[in-house]
Amino acid sequence: MQRLVDGAAALGICLTTKQQAAFQFYYQELVAWNQKFNLTAITDYEQVQIRHFLDSLSCLLAEEVRQVLNRPEARVIDVGTGAGFPGLPLKLVCPGFSLTLLEATGKKVLFLDHLIGQLGLQRVSAIKARAEELAHDLSHREQYDLALARAVGELPVVVEYTLPFCRIGGWVVAQKGEAGAAEAWSASQAITLLGGELYRVMPVELPGLPEDRSLVIIKKVSSTPPNYPRRPGIPSKRPLGKRG
Ligand code: SAM
Repeated sequence: MQRLVDGAAALGICLTTKQQAAFQFYYQELVAWNQKFNLTAITDYEQVQIRHFLDSLSCLLAEEVRQVLNRPEARVIDVGTGAGFPGLPLKLVCPGFSLTLLEATGKKVLFLDHLIGQLGLQRVSAIKARAEELAHDLSHREQYDLALARAVGELPVVVEYTLPFCRIGGWVVAQKGEAGAAEAWSASQAITLLGGELYRVMPVELPGLPEDRSLVIIKKVSSTPPNYPRRPGIPSKRPLGKRG
């Protein structure tokens, strides 16, 4: 896990021996399960450390994320988490907060349940559901301090999946590529409609990753209208009004 350890140090995160062992186990299980289920296209040891683990941890570069994750009463949801990114690496580094991993594909949820059990993680649950449905369940709607999403779609779709989960005063942080600022601008109507306010876009450079990344940080400022998110499949088929 040397690439991860060095990269995390560059982000200001010092990984303990126990945390390194947990990431090593995560890697082994990811690769083993990937032979049966298609969990990820990235399986190379170094690339998983950089593109999955370190990239997930880069959310901690945002002060808004650090403040939430360091509060033990905080509730965080990772929407479209796949094999657990970015939620699980963040939980391994900041164990206090309560984490919901939301994923539509059953086999990925099986993998997540296996990891949660084997790693003995507390206050983490994996839910098999679509965001468009779970966000209308009152035990999840507007209940979270932070909603995370990486590689789940274009920004107007991502905000329709995530903003309904955030309480007023909470945050959405979407991990994006170098075009994050342009995407944020083109999603501004959708953000406003769903009760959000574009707070800032933070460029991110990761050691070992040639392409630039960004964090789109959105604040929830008013309640999401009850008819959002729309029915399953509609947000991605008909993304909310894009600008420009
Ligand atoms: N976030 C992970 C990552 O960065 O590696 C997974 C990214 S993968 C490209 C997108 C994931 O989002 C898939 O596992 C898919 O099943 C899930 N997904 C897509 N739409 C969803 C929805 N509406 N509700 C829940 N999960 C969804």
